[in-house]
Amino acid sequence: MPFCPKCQYEYNASAKICPECKEDLVDRLEAVPSGEDFAEVYMVSNRMEAEVVRSILEENGIDYLIRDLRMFPVLPDFGRRARLRIAVPKSQEAQARKMLEEARSDGALTSQGRFL
Ligand SMILES: [Zn+2]
Repeated sequence: MPFCPKCQYEYNASAKICPECKEDLVDRLEAVPSGEDFAEVYMVSNRMEAEVVRSILEENGIDYLIRDLRMFPVLPDFGRRARLRIAVPKSQEAQARKMLEEARSDGALTSQGRFL
C-alpha cells in the first residue's frame, strides 16, 4: 500500500496523492522496517490524536504505521471522516499497548480512540 513521504501515513492502494500534504505517494518508506509483521493496535478518528499516538510511540522507540482507511482519500481530513489505524511490529505490540494504556490513564491521550 502506498505511503506519503512527508507525513508517512499509509493509504489505500487506489490513492495516488496524500490529501493532507499533496505529495505523490511512494511504494515504501525508508523508516518502515521491511519484513516485519505489523499488528493494528489502536484506532483514532482524527490526525491530532494520531499525532499524539505517534509521539508516544516515537518517544518509546516503537516503530509504527498510521493507516488512513478512507476509501477515497481525496478530501482533507476535517476531523470526522477519518479512521486512522495505528499498527506496530508484532514484536513490539505488547509494549505499545502498555504505553498507550498508560498514556490514556494519565490523560496524555484522550479516550476518543480505542484499542483494536
Ligand atoms: Zn502526507
